[in-house]
Amino acid sequence: MKRSRAADAVVFGVVQGVGFRPFIYRLAKRFGYKGWVKNIGFGVKIHLESKDADDFSLFFQALIKEKPPLSQIENIDREPAEFSDCQQFEIKKSIHSQSFVFISPDISICDNCRKEMLDPEDRRYRYPFINCTDCGPRYTIVKALPYDRPQTTMSHFKMCSQCQKEYTDPSDRRYHAQPVACPECGPEIELKKSSTGEKIKGGIPQASVFIKQGSILAVKGLGGFHLVCNPFNKKAVDRLRKIKKRKTKPFALMASGLPVIERYGMMDPYEKEQLCSAQRPIVLLRKKKEIPGIAPFLSEIGFMLPYTPLHYLLLQDLDLIVATSSNPKDSPIMKDEKEGINALCDYVLTHNRPIHMRSDDSVMKVVDKKPLFLRRARGYVPYPQKVPESLVSQKQILALGGELKDTISIYKNGYVITSQFLGDLDEYQNYTYFEETIKHLSGLFEFKPDVVVSDLHPDFHTTRYAERMGIPHLKVQHHYAHALAAMLEHHYDRRKKALGIILDGFGYGGDSTAWGAEFLLADYHTYTRAGHFKYMPLPGGDLAAKQPWRMALAYLIDAYKSDFPQVKSIARINRKKLDHIQQMITKDICCPQASSCGRLFDAVSYLIGLAPEQAEFEAEAPMRLESAADDTIGSFYGFEISGDSVPYIVSFSHAIRSIVSDLNKNVPIPVISARFHNTLSEALVQMSEKIRNIHGINTIVLAGGVFLNKFLLARTLQNLESRNFDVLRPVHYSPNDELISLGQIAYALAKKP
Ligand code: ZN
Ligand code: ZN
Ligand code: FE
Repeated sequence: MKRSRAADAVVFGVVQGVGFRPFIYRLAKRFGYKGWVKNIGFGVKIHLESKDADDFSLFFQALIKEKPPLSQIENIDREPAEFSDCQQFEIKKSIHSQSFVFISPDISICDNCRKEMLDPEDRRYRYPFINCTDCGPRYTIVKALPYDRPQTTMSHFKMCSQCQKEYTDPSDRRYHAQPVACPECGPEIELKKSSTGEKIKGGIPQASVFIKQGSILAVKGLGGFHLVCNPFNKKAVDRLRKIKKRKTKPFALMASGLPVIERYGMMDPYEKEQLCSAQRPIVLLRKKKEIPGIAPFLSEIGFMLPYTPLHYLLLQDLDLIVATSSNPKDSPIMKDEKEGINALCDYVLTHNRPIHMRSDDSVMKVVDKKPLFLRRARGYVPYPQKVPESLVSQKQILALGGELKDTISIYKNGYVITSQFLGDLDEYQNYTYFEETIKHLSGLFEFKPDVVVSDLHPDFHTTRYAERMGIPHLKVQHHYAHALAAMLEHHYDRRKKALGIILDGFGYGGDSTAWGAEFLLADYHTYTRAGHFKYMPLPGGDLAAKQPWRMALAYLIDAYKSDFPQVKSIARINRKKLDHIQQMITKDICCPQASSCGRLFDAVSYLIGLAPEQAEFEAEAPMRLESAADDTIGSFYGFEISGDSVPYIVSFSHAIRSIVSDLNKNVPIPVISARFHNTLSEALVQMSEKIRNIHGINTIVLAGGVFLNKFLLARTLQNLESRNFDVLRPVHYSPNDELISLGQIAYALAKKP
């Protein structure tokens, strides 16, 4: 930039509500500049004035290097400006504009606050609600815009004079931190016995003692209550399993620090980075040392670090606690004691800062150095997703997602906000949560939809909701939406096609059949089905997803026709039941057909003796299969790709026969599991090459719930990249059905409604 005495700059990105203006204020003071800073639309405008001609480059270098931890800078436009002889540097009041105003996600306690909290001289010594501009609750406590204290759940706490002083002093690190509080004026902790409601003295240290002794506690966090117990106390863990009605579903652990996690889990630097990030997700790590009963039958275990000051204080005398969300089966996480928390625990550690919007912990694995989200919620919502310039529309769009693992997305002025994970909407309580969330996001972002988008499925609650809205309604095929979401996230070129490989449970197809594992030639406007896995009968429909042996039988019959050899796991099933299901399959009674990939995993997991007869939770059988795989094995089984033109059909009957033969040769299970994974990966690569040869398409999109399988995803990425494909996969979103609403937005934008 040319040297002059004044400069204007606009910083675009996530720069509002994250302490950006006070940061600029302090930076300008340090450089001795006069001028001002203010919020504008989706950015911050800065005016700088210097005593002498200057190019201000050192200022902007420092700005980029030292930016507040929660901010994300997309772009800085700067130019010389008129010198107007400002007398000071000031933070100008922002004018409330119609465009998006960014709201920060909830962020873990920062280092500065932690230091203060542990300093006996500090007035917030051991205060569990300490926070500042860089940290603390946001999304879960805001009720409406503008994001000011009276519009948050802190409104009924009147700031004391000291807090007020910090709040109004631009040089203070608590300047305009809406939840600012201290022991004088802020929220308070309360420990109660759940059976009687009796208050118990001793606060957080006493709560730690109860946990150590084997009690189950409900602890109020940012987005809801956790149920907490001592992971080494078998009785407590068993009781918690009874309360949650979960026999085998893994529990997450919260550890006091990295050294504790290091004892039980293997961590690479990228996993460490995610664990320590300000978002504090649960990260699934490979087990190093087993903690019985926490994640049975699986090779991975989920850890997180404390993220609120309260958690830090609670874990001062404890290494490790079970911290699972306080939802009875099939309900959203509880945010209020009145929702029935007392029935789930012995003691409640609660406080009087209300949670306005509930939000679960986020869960991820790390693959290829980047996140792979199993659940995206606290810490990441409501980060905005920018859409490619060519798709920007003036309309406002609401996308309702699918039915299971739902999220909603809203689009306004070039950005999409995707909600936190909402759960399965076939449950009444989750459906209420879905409605709560639409209301919440609409309020926060002054959003009023012109268009609504849903899945093609006529019976989804979301589809019906959309129909009732009485505004233009678009419908998008489920798997196509998976692909579109990843294309939007990576700003894929609007003029080009990609091959979407979507491996999923199942979704309503474009031809009214149930689709599952799909190869879609897609751009933002349309798609063609280039291939799919062979249709298989699902004996008993939905029951087939819950009883993996039914699928095992279906695949055996398909591979051998009726005369299949003896398989140990199948022989364990009651003879009568077995005959009955065999009849159903051969006579095609109550056997809807689907090209599912999830069900293929169920079948193989059961065949080789890993899956239980009855799965307790979704993906239990596939997770056990993945856990068993030996990653030193590179070999794979045969498979068939048939058809002379699209759609090509991929069949694994050959692989099923090889698996049975390996079983009978006593080949170790980890080898069989690895070979099966490799077979799938090889099939995907061969299909990709076949389609590249015909259509010249070199970009592959990988999405769908099956790609939560780290073994499969890592191998497939490697194989595709080694054959010079460009691969896109969701990184900021889960590849599972949480992704659908984002894809629906992409579709609507391309339609230019
Ligand atoms: Zn802080
Ligand atoms: Zn105070
Ligand atoms: Fe899906």
